[in-house]
Amino acid sequence: MASVTYNHVWKKFGDVEVLKDIQLSINDKEFLVLVGPSGCGKSTALRCLAGLEEVTDGEILIGDRVVNDVSPKDRDIAMVFQSYALYPHMTVFDNMAFGLKLRKTPKEEIQKRVTEAAATLGLDRLLQRRPRELSGGQRQRVALGRAIVRNPQVFLFDEPLSNLDAKLRVQTRSEISKLHQRLQTTFIYVTHDQVEAMTMADRIAVMYKGIIQQLDTPQMLYDFPCNLFVAGFIGSPS
Ligand code: ADP
Ligand code: MG
Repeated sequence: MASVTYNHVWKKFGDVEVLKDIQLSINDKEFLVLVGPSGCGKSTALRCLAGLEEVTDGEILIGDRVVNDVSPKDRDIAMVFQSYALYPHMTVFDNMAFGLKLRKTPKEEIQKRVTEAAATLGLDRLLQRRPRELSGGQRQRVALGRAIVRNPQVFLFDEPLSNLDAKLRVQTRSEISKLHQRLQTTFIYVTHDQVEAMTMADRIAVMYKGIIQQLDTPQMLYDFPCNLFVAGFIGSPS
């Protein structure tokens, strides 16, 4: 079970309250999009779940396990960032294998998982290339591959398309949706782009100033926004 629960989660940096009493239950296998304007706390919410930040108060659960004191590498989560952060001196294969090597995964298992992920992402013929020999879209797929090979229960995406041009954005968006259908795991996807949110999500959580304003299906948000912020944000052209 890879449901995710934020239970009255607060995060402060000094006196600044960035997350204010976040309550959010994400279902197993759900595609949840967390959307909101820049600076509202989306990345912080993901980083707390991944264990890259400590929460100031409250609990985060993965399944029924409280993970506040669990180290990031034991949380069974993989995160795809907006900058691809590939290792420039390593081949595509080694970029994808790196996390598994760190975890002392047997060599044959690494070979198998990287080969499978490469096939899924159409990277089979690029495994010996270096990042500089790839297009932006291919690099983004390597970053996805690095997450997939770990077989995580939960995938986190932090604005993964923001470095891509418009055409590639649309293409990668649909690849990520297909990936979700294929892997049948929980995806939490952060964006400030309401079109991305409306087209990809099972449910959308709209965040503003560190508070979840509304959590609902795209259709319900569109038809029944709970306040003016949500109405303006969802209704405005991107
Ligand atoms: P978003 O991802 O929605 O753009 P962030 O979660 O990155 O927003 O940031 C929310 C707020 O928290 C911003 O005001 C940001 O300046 C602040 N913030 C984020 N990380 C830190 C940090 N490590 N130290 C201090 N303030 C931070
Ligand atoms: Mg952010």
